[in-house]
Amino acid sequence: MKLTTETLTDVTRNRFWIKVDKRGPDECWPWLGANNGRYGTMTINKRTIGAHKVSYLIHHGDTPDGVMILHECDEGLCVNPAHLCVGSHAKNMRDKAERGSHRGERVWHLAKLTNPGVKLIRRCFEDGHYDCQRLSDITGVTYQTIWSILNDKTWRHVDADGSGRSLPSS
Ligand SMILES: [Zn+2]
Repeated sequence: MKLTTETLTDVTRNRFWIKVDKRGPDECWPWLGANNGRYGTMTINKRTIGAHKVSYLIHHGDTPDGVMILHECDEGLCVNPAHLCVGSHAKNMRDKAERGSHRGERVWHLAKLTNPGVKLIRRCFEDGHYDCQRLSDITGVTYQTIWSILNDKTWRHVDADGSGRSLPSS
């Protein structure tokens, strides 16, 4: 079974987090579990999957089959979601970084917040397993932003179940 936001269980999530040396939002977060000499690995449902892929899934949601998750920091064991990007976006991101267009952590995080990410934040909260602070810790998104999402101050067009909302965009 393919690991997706639908099949990702809380048990898997917990197994992921206990193996992460979580540091500051801009620092690399070393994976403490198994590795294949290049990347951290996790075995889920008898399949080995890159720990960075699990991290990407948890924070940013599903990606199409065959898409590569790349490290911007070139540190294969790093699972900091802010250092991970999809396939060919890597170069764009690097170019942007060089131009300084996402200087500062806050802009970076807002730029990274995606519809799947917002859905996941809502769903985790509604499941009752995570509060605002924990969600902020996990996602690297500020407490205030998480609060705003959960209280429908921002991202109102994205629903927890992913069905979308028919609010006018304002
Ligand atoms: Zn890193």
